Formats: sequence, C-alpha cells, structure tokens
Amino acid sequence: MTKAEARALFDDAAAKTRERSPATFDQWFGGIQYDDLTEEVLTLRAQNEFVMEWVKTNFLPELVEQIRQASGTSVQVNWILDAKLNEPVSNTPVFAPVRPRALSVNRRGNEEEGAVESSRRMAPPDDINPRNTFFNFVVGPSNQLAHAAAVAAAGGGGRRYNPLFLCGGTGLGKTHLVHAIAHRVYEERPTARIRYVSAERFTNEFITALQHQRMDDFRARYREACDLLLVDDIQFLAGRVQTQEEFFHTFNALHNADRQIVVTSDKYPQALERMEERLVSRFASGLVADIQSPELETRVAIVRNKAALEGIELSDPVAVYLAQAVRSNVRELEGTLIRLAAKSSLTGQKVDMDFVRIELSTALTVRTQTLNVEDIQRAVCQHFRLRTSDLTSKDRHKTVAFARHVAMYLCKQRLKCSFPELGRAFGGRDHTTVMSAVRKIDGKREDDPNVRAHLEAIERKLIAE
Ligand code: ADP
Ligand code: MG
Repeated sequence: MTKAEARALFDDAAAKTRERSPATFDQWFGGIQYDDLTEEVLTLRAQNEFVMEWVKTNFLPELVEQIRQASGTSVQVNWILDAKLNEPVSNTPVFAPVRPRALSVNRRGNEEEGAVESSRRMAPPDDINPRNTFFNFVVGPSNQLAHAAAVAAAGGGGRRYNPLFLCGGTGLGKTHLVHAIAHRVYEERPTARIRYVSAERFTNEFITALQHQRMDDFRARYREACDLLLVDDIQFLAGRVQTQEEFFHTFNALHNADRQIVVTSDKYPQALERMEERLVSRFASGLVADIQSPELETRVAIVRNKAALEGIELSDPVAVYLAQAVRSNVRELEGTLIRLAAKSSLTGQKVDMDFVRIELSTALTVRTQTLNVEDIQRAVCQHFRLRTSDLTSKDRHKTVAFARHVAMYLCKQRLKCSFPELGRAFGGRDHTTVMSAVRKIDGKREDDPNVRAHLEAIERKLIAE
C-alpha cells in the first residue's frame, strides 16, 4: 500500500464514520491529525488527552471497523499527543469559536446576554472523565429513573426538573451520570457555560475567595457565568454553615434564572445530616431520583460493557460468574475486572473460567481472614431469617438446628477455630456436637442440591459484606 493509498483508505473510513453524526465528528476530529497507516498500525495525533480519550471511546471502534471492512485487516491505533496540529482531519478546529447556537438549558430572560457572551465555544468543563458518557452507561431497573432524569436535565426531552437530585450509595453511578450530562450539553450546546464541581471543591474555592477578598469573582463564576451547575457529593457540606449559606444563595440565583441545577448525594435530602432545613427543602423541591444496587442482569451487562471498552475478551459464563461474585457496587465490580485483566496480561493467562475462579477464591481467602464467628453467624441468620441468639440457644427446631449446623460448618471451613472453641461460641456445646454437625453438612453439600444452594447463597453474602 503506497502512502497515497493508505491516506485514501483512511479518508474513506473517516468519511463513513462521520456519517453517523457529522457535527460531533467535526468537533472532535478538529483535534485529531492523521499521521500514518500501515497494514498493522494507524497512527493518529491528538491535540490533548481529552480529545484522544473522547475519540477513542466514541469513534474509534467504528473507524477501525470501517478500515477493516475496506482492507480486510484489523489495525492497532498508535497515539501521539501533539498540541500543535498541522492538518486536522476535520477542518472545524475543536474548541475554536463556532457558530453561536441557541441555549436551551438557559433561554428565558437573558437571550441578549446569552447571544453576546456565549457566542464562543467554551472550553470543556473541568474534571470530567471522558468515559462517563450516556453511551457507556448501562440502564437497568435500578437506575432507569435516574438515567431518564439525567437525559432530560441535559435537554434531551421529557419533563425537565429543577433541581435534579440524584442519590444513592457509593459506586452506583452518580458521578458517571453527572459527567454524562456535562458531555451531552457540551456536545449539543458548545456555548453553554457548564460548571461541574464537587461540594468539596466548592467549599475550598469559597474559602479561598473569602481569604483573598475575591467573592465577586466567585459569585460571578457560580451565579452569572453559569448555565448548568452540577454539584457532586453535596453531603460534604454537612455542618459547614457558611458554605451552606453561600450555596443557598447560589442555588436561588440560578434557580430564579431557570438554569438547570443537578446535585448528587449519598443520602436522600431528608436524611442529610447537619444540613440547613431550607437547603434540604430546596433539594427536595425538584425531582429526587435514586439509584439502587444493580440487579444481576444489569451487573452482567456492565461487566460486558466495561470489558469491551477495555478490550478484554470475556466469555458469557465468565461475565455472569463475575457479576454473581461481586455484588456490592459497580466500582468494585469494575475494579475486579480490571485487576483480573491486569494479572492475566502479566502472566499471559486468559481471563477464562478457571483463571477467574482461582483468582476470586484467593481474593475470598484474603477477605475471609478478616471474618469472625459473629460475621458468619450473622450472615447465616440473615439468610434463614433467625435471630443470632437462636444459634446459641437450646432450640432444637428443625430450621434452627439446620442453620446452626450450617453456621458451624462455615466457621470450621473459613476460620482457624478448633472444635472446642466453636462449641463455646455456639452456646457452650460439646466439641463432638460441632464435629458431627460439620461432617453432616459436608456430606449433604455433596448430595443435596438444596443444601448446596443455601451454602452458596450464604457464601456470596460473606463475599459481598
Ligand atoms: P458514585 O459517584 O455513585 O460513587 P461512580 O459514578 O463513580 O459512582 O461509578 C463508579 C464506577 O462504576 C464508574 O467507573 C462508573 O463508570 C461505573 N458505573 C456505575 N454505574 C454504571 C452503569 N450503570 N453502567 C456503566 N458503568 C457504571
Ligand atoms: Mg461519585
């Protein structure tokens, strides 16, 4: 392939990739330059890391596929960062002034000001992870409402609520959704002034502004020059009276001007501690959308999605196995996958069922070293819906006795306890009682699928704890 042929091949593939969404393509490929294409490697230059990550995530799979279809070979992509590009692929330079567009996040009241001040494309908002897009967010029953509300807040149709309050436990996708809103608005209304800030940073900036008598700048930044305010982890404001006061006024200024506000929190508004009542009632006045822990199906989809993004080959049973083993939150699920992939590339083993089983069981051993008798008793009781006192009692009811045997068995398996020690931990029983219980369950584990199912359910609970 001559240089000219290679270039033509690339141009053709790029043109096909562009068809899907030309405006977005032009925006991002204004920051990309073609360097070289051989049978194995496509070399591209990117103006900065942000552009590179965005293109990698959102366009590269298709571009590579187009090249493969035209030439029959799958190329690897080699990136060079280069702040000064000679010849961008698209001649609409990225982040340069573009035709002013209407702002729909913020229309009412200040069209004049908007037209003058916002006629330039803004720099991308700070601190936004390029991977946290709507495209990469897996929707399931546990996060459907939050997702739909986030799309609406980004101006994607549907009723828009102001404020939007996203809440849920750690690692469930709140930050991801807020970043996705920023990406979407930035893509569709490049002139919108987006402020993404953690409550912690807001607090720090506020304190610095006070110290240096720069409150005017601070207020201009968050109240006037802001069409969309995204505040992450609002629970950080707990007990910070002065920052809460400032945020209250920021909130009102934006809300009165009909600018969208999105707030995330690890708790429902009413459950926020040491938060002024008037703020709590503002938070609750729009839409409160919560995110729950994802169900198994959603976890499987998340694992597959993440594996595809990272280029990790994963069979379906392995994806399901992982999703079953790690249920606490998405961050941990992703973390486990990445850890496995890293280990597999170091050792040259494939991420297959055997590998994953062994890896997760060593992780399990590490985890169970910190378990104690009470943890196991608690997990068993939760599973059988008993009180922990039942296990140490004299109760010989069938369910109670069975649960007690299961607990003894798991303790013996997982902990370095002797039979007499366990006897004492279970209401002062004789060590022979414990021995026979362990033997009994051990035998049933082999023969009785029912018993096996109980044991596996409790073992999973112990991993997730
Ligand atoms: P939070 O802010 O709620 O603590 P994050 O938004 O940081 O959680 O999410 C933790 C990790 O899990 C991130 O890498 C995020 O991309 C990923 N994640 C969470 N939910 C989903 C989802 N539904 N689909 C894809 N990735 C998700
Ligand atoms: Mg977060």
